[in-house]
Amino acid sequence: MFADVILPLPLPDLFTYAVPAEMQDKIGIGFRVIIPFGRRKYYTAIVKAIHWDAPENIEVKEIHSLIDSHAVVNEQQLTLWEWISFYYLSPPGDVYKAALPSPMKPEDLLSKFTPKTETFIQINPSLDASSVTGLLGRAKKQQLLMDEIIHYFTEKKCERVSKKEISGLSNYSPSVLNGLLQKKILLAHSIETGRINSGIIPTREPYPLNEHQQKALIELNNCFKDKQISLLHGVTSSGKTEIYIHLIQQFLAVGAQTLYLLPEIALTTQLTQRLQAVFGDKIGIYHSRINENERTEIWQKMLSENPYKIILGVRSSLFLPFRKLGLVIVDEEHETSYKQQEPAPRYHARDAAIMLAHFHNAKTVLGSATPSLESYYNAQTGKYGLVTLTERFNGVMMPRIQLENTRDLRRKKKMKSLLAPALIEEINAALENEEQVILFRNRRGFAPLIECSQCAWTPRCSRCDVTLTYHKKGNKLVCHYCNSHYRLPTECPSCLEKSLKPLGLGTEQLEEEVSLLFPGTVVARMDMDSTRGKDAYERIINDFQEKRIQILVGTQMLSKGLDFDNVRVVGIISADSLLNYPDFRSHERGFQLMTQAAGRSGRNTRQGIVIIQSADPAQAVYSYVSRNDYELFFETQLSERKLFNYPPFCRLIRIVLKHKEERKAEAASSLLADILKKTLHERLLGPNKPIVSRIQLYHIREILLKLENGLSPHKVRDIMKKAESSLRSNPEFKYVTLYYDVDPL
Ligand code: ADP
Ligand code: ZN
Ligand code: ZN
Repeated sequence: MFADVILPLPLPDLFTYAVPAEMQDKIGIGFRVIIPFGRRKYYTAIVKAIHWDAPENIEVKEIHSLIDSHAVVNEQQLTLWEWISFYYLSPPGDVYKAALPSPMKPEDLLSKFTPKTETFIQINPSLDASSVTGLLGRAKKQQLLMDEIIHYFTEKKCERVSKKEISGLSNYSPSVLNGLLQKKILLAHSIETGRINSGIIPTREPYPLNEHQQKALIELNNCFKDKQISLLHGVTSSGKTEIYIHLIQQFLAVGAQTLYLLPEIALTTQLTQRLQAVFGDKIGIYHSRINENERTEIWQKMLSENPYKIILGVRSSLFLPFRKLGLVIVDEEHETSYKQQEPAPRYHARDAAIMLAHFHNAKTVLGSATPSLESYYNAQTGKYGLVTLTERFNGVMMPRIQLENTRDLRRKKKMKSLLAPALIEEINAALENEEQVILFRNRRGFAPLIECSQCAWTPRCSRCDVTLTYHKKGNKLVCHYCNSHYRLPTECPSCLEKSLKPLGLGTEQLEEEVSLLFPGTVVARMDMDSTRGKDAYERIINDFQEKRIQILVGTQMLSKGLDFDNVRVVGIISADSLLNYPDFRSHERGFQLMTQAAGRSGRNTRQGIVIIQSADPAQAVYSYVSRNDYELFFETQLSERKLFNYPPFCRLIRIVLKHKEERKAEAASSLLADILKKTLHERLLGPNKPIVSRIQLYHIREILLKLENGLSPHKVRDIMKKAESSLRSNPEFKYVTLYYDVDPL
């Protein structure tokens, strides 16, 4: 008997091993095995197939040992891995590595994952209040502790907490807790943490939907009859999330699981609270701030007889083992963070989730106030169902959007700070009214550039082809590509003058200036730098929600789907920077970002105010944003895409080549382009030197393929694989790094 296995290595193929006789009735597809590979190494591999066809002409090694007594990866997962590996041109081993939490694929081996157990405390459910009082008798300390525990359980709305948490409650000696346990007022269980329910009790029924939401829900259900995928296009704050909650409940009622995907961890905080209030501990949370052991526990629970019914998570959660997946929700489906950039597999989680749903025969709902052009096109052409919501919940008006021409204002000497006078005025009015403010700027740090005012010298990264950003905190220069830190020189290294000046504006500077403009208000910042700590997002979001912060400054991180009920004013500072980069999607991104940012204001009762600061407000995209006209924006973009042949009218594949020697990167990319051109002809563009042409010491060249939608993906992949091996057969290019980015964003 033989087994084809997937190794956790970037190899193009599966490997075949012999199954020892005593293992033959125990092994199965989706089991983990330990196999020897290379000279002396052992790896954890996944069984993909079992058969009796002895491979010819090669010596087959034996499987060393079997880890599992049941499959840890199910059939649909393996099919999904295969699709991702094929479609995104990534080795199967890379997909496997991305999918499984690391404790499940140990490399030092023979050390298996051992589940953590934890002691949980519960109030004995068979005792009523009076019998508790009776049992407590006159034990004062026990009474006090019991009071605290009851209070704690009520606060947390749960029926069981870990012993650790109780120990943290107050100063009592362990003997007091033991006393309560001996009297059986409290019960202790030692539970494998992966298998437990957290004990969170749902606190409410879903809110009843209003008539628009109700109608949308009915329409979605109608779409489900003949469409597997539907797009819910609802303006910001139309109550899409509440519709999802009703849908989940509907699927739950027939025993089906839901996968709820979000583009960013920052969003999970609020969503977790909203979903747990209705679904309690039926919901599992899965994202990168969850440590690898917890991920393993969630995986194991998904394999158990009592899996989570709902998984809320970012893109990696689509790799979990679902038993009976009925519904996939891709919230904020237009977000580019759904695309994995580094490392491989460079998959788009929305598209992979659609495939996952397909393999489970489940329904998919894509939701957004600003759908991606691709999805909206699919909806318009009938491939997806389309449901539209145009009213904000509660009849709140869409925000009023006002453009401020900063070039004019500067010329008239009216820009006394980074904020236009109109924005300052609106902020003051909001603050007076105890309302809140959000300000966006899509650059972090203090200043994107340092320049010598004498000789125009600017500091650059020694490893990348980019200028460095100045961070005032720590007084350092940072490369935003490789994260190298440099000291800020006191004088210009070129002309030796003390004449280095920061140029441009980052969130750090905006925060500082806003604090000075509005003394006595609490200003906070949310960007990659301020959210590194484990609970940093939660703290900022909660503080803002609880109004301990009045003005929140941040990058696009802040624009995505957050729901604050007291934000009156949103300011978008230097909006032009969103549009001025050379990419066919820049206007789409700019439209989405501004519309989403605007959508954070006036979500409750009063109309919100959005001020967009631009030096060039005549650009058409601003008028679509201010009139909230998605359809018209879509039409104009679509005709441009058609004219210049861009997605959705074709598919793109970006081929990236890297080498430390520029000459080799250049030569390899030319050769590869020549080989590919023989079959792909004018479909190939390049090779090009990208704008940032060196990162982390590697010189980069790119080739772009524009492929007609009808072209067979199998043929294309064949052509590319052949071209790659032909390139590799030249010893000079054996170690050139080469990867594919399919549907690049
Ligand atoms: P969207 O996801 O479309 O931006 P949300 O679902 O976040 O909108 O809804 C906006 C706000 O309105 C939220 O605070 C939400 O709790 C509230 N809301 C929406 N629908 C209802 C409803 N049917 N009943 C009560 N509150 C609702
Ligand atoms: Zn760098
Ligand atoms: Zn100088």
